Amino acid sequence: MPSTDIIQLLPDSIANQIAAGEVVQRPSSVVKELLENAIDAHASHIQVILREAGRTLIQIIDNGIGMSQTDARLSFERHATSKIRLSEDLFKIRTMGFRGEALASIAAVAQVELKTKTNDDELGTLIRIEASEIKSQEAVACETGTSFSVKNLFFNVPARRNFLKSNAVEMRHVLDEFQRIALAHPDVSLSLYHNDSEVFNLPSGKLVRRIIDIFGKSYREQLAFCQEETSYINVRGFIGKPEFARKTRGEQYFFVNDRYIKHNYMHHAVLNAFDGTIADGSHPFYVLFIEIDPAHIDINIHPTKTEIKFDDEKSVYAIVMAAVKKAVGVYNLSQSIDFED
Ligand code: ADP
Ligand code: MG
Repeated sequence: MPSTDIIQLLPDSIANQIAAGEVVQRPSSVVKELLENAIDAHASHIQVILREAGRTLIQIIDNGIGMSQTDARLSFERHATSKIRLSEDLFKIRTMGFRGEALASIAAVAQVELKTKTNDDELGTLIRIEASEIKSQEAVACETGTSFSVKNLFFNVPARRNFLKSNAVEMRHVLDEFQRIALAHPDVSLSLYHNDSEVFNLPSGKLVRRIIDIFGKSYREQLAFCQEETSYINVRGFIGKPEFARKTRGEQYFFVNDRYIKHNYMHHAVLNAFDGTIADGSHPFYVLFIEIDPAHIDINIHPTKTEIKFDDEKSVYAIVMAAVKKAVGVYNLSQSIDFED
């Protein structure tokens, strides 16, 4: 008897829900993806509005380039992106997104409302989508830019919903993502409201100002400027002076081409540079930006893109360490840091 064929292609709604498992872990994942989209859309002002730590509402309003009516609808399809077209483009990525998966994933596990308008269009578009199903689409009058409302995250995935932690814990995750984006983009004004209270209202300005606005005025005296330029990478940013190092980790930030990255090896390079100036087990504050030709990195090793590979890790290590060592060595000499803003 011939065998029976049993393989089927999954419907989009299920495929999206599976993909969402990787991209959307909790409210903070939605905040991260939507903030990155707003940044990629060249917004200069972004507002984040949350209810119940993002469980019931995450709204992100930007004044970026917006979307046409067709793009607005397409944006929820999986692998739909305006950011890459050819496989070569994967080696030139300058945008935060490129996988075209975030919106499809979010819309698979929440009730989403998108309102968007480009500068060229008279009217904007309002789309309601729920569990990957478009519920309505209409033309509306609105400002140029984009607003996403993500309601009742995981309303259709009880296992995921039950896995969420307390509002305090979920809010901590949201703040982590918000702060990373805020540090990477001091030129963008950002505000965050939770249950109608203002949590952050960050005006655009220089990096120093952004650090102080986020962490507090006391950081002003702690900061030492850090810079090293080579043909392979440029490093710049601030480190906390050794005497301010703390026992608890959490205020260490690496950005590679403005993307927040977790990298133990590079963290080690920084610690190594501090060697002998801080107590064992203490962690220095740092906000370091690495600029590198995207051809030398691979950011496509994890869906959330917080991990990357450099083609020459050893050189990055050496340059980061040299940069920090220099800053640690000279911080108490008079420096021409421009703290004005
Ligand atoms: P990706 O960011 O990887 O391209 P997304 O699913 O996050 O994928 O978004 C899909 C597309 O929708 C983007 O490529 C972009 O063209 C459009 N888009 C998403 N958010 C915005 C926004 N806030 N403003 C303008 N366009 C947006
Ligand atoms: Mg995106």
